[in-house]
Amino acid sequence: MFEKLENRYFFTGKLVLENEMHIGSGKGDGTTDALVVKDFNEKPFIPGSSVRGVLRSTIERIAASLGKNPCLLESDNCVTNSRDVLQKEFKKLLEKKNKAQIDAFLNNDSKICSVCRLFGSTVVASKIRITDLLLEEEKAEPSVRHGVAINRDTETAQDKAKFDFEVVPKESSFSFELIGENLTDDDLALLAVGIQEMMDGNFWLGGNTARGLGRCKLKGLAIKYFKGADGLKQYLTDKTLTSMPVKDFLNSIKSLVREEARYAQEDIE
Ligand SMILES: [Zn+2]
Repeated sequence: MFEKLENRYFFTGKLVLENEMHIGSGKGDGTTDALVVKDFNEKPFIPGSSVRGVLRSTIERIAASLGKNPCLLESDNCVTNSRDVLQKEFKKLLEKKNKAQIDAFLNNDSKICSVCRLFGSTVVASKIRITDLLLEEEKAEPSVRHGVAINRDTETAQDKAKFDFEVVPKESSFSFELIGENLTDDDLALLAVGIQEMMDGNFWLGGNTARGLGRCKLKGLAIKYFKGADGLKQYLTDKTLTSMPVKDFLNSIKSLVREEARYAQEDIE
């Protein structure tokens, strides 16, 4: 899209495994059925898309409970699922290239849900990117766990179906970087909900999470940003960024919760 760059936020830290983790590569070798994903140095890594998926579903669940209408079930209030009406309307706006009208559409809660606004969908661009998370240590030798392949239809163990899978050892640490652009206060608040869950360790990646595998925690979070034309110029010329205290960022969650309280009040009146 032709959207202007209003601001950019850099969230960095490290994601530390509280337990072993299995993110499958879809491949096996002669001895192990499921190997973990590895980078070109043969070191395990975490695809940014994996973190992004879990972060999105974490935020969706909580946003739904706060009445912020994720669009998974209701199709009438989000352009992503409302094929006939809202998608046609949005397409027309894009053709006209009227920025004010497009902005108004994208900021209207009855046209697009808050989660699609942040993470994007097949219809709208995402505001955030998560870089692949590389291992910080020199190496982390994966080990092999033995499981049993479960027949999904009968939910019983299949005959002779022993299933070996590789895991990355606990306490392995991966570099985390999330970049957000053109974030509004609402976007930041929603993101804070998900990031706080990561910091609290309510975050599981990969397979076998029902058995506790893949639990991880975000540590050492730092937030830096620039905003406005002047901020952009300074960033371009000497990489100047402003720091945002993590406490202030997490405090933005209160605005979401208060908003919810206000809506509830209006419902009563
Ligand atoms: Zn949506």
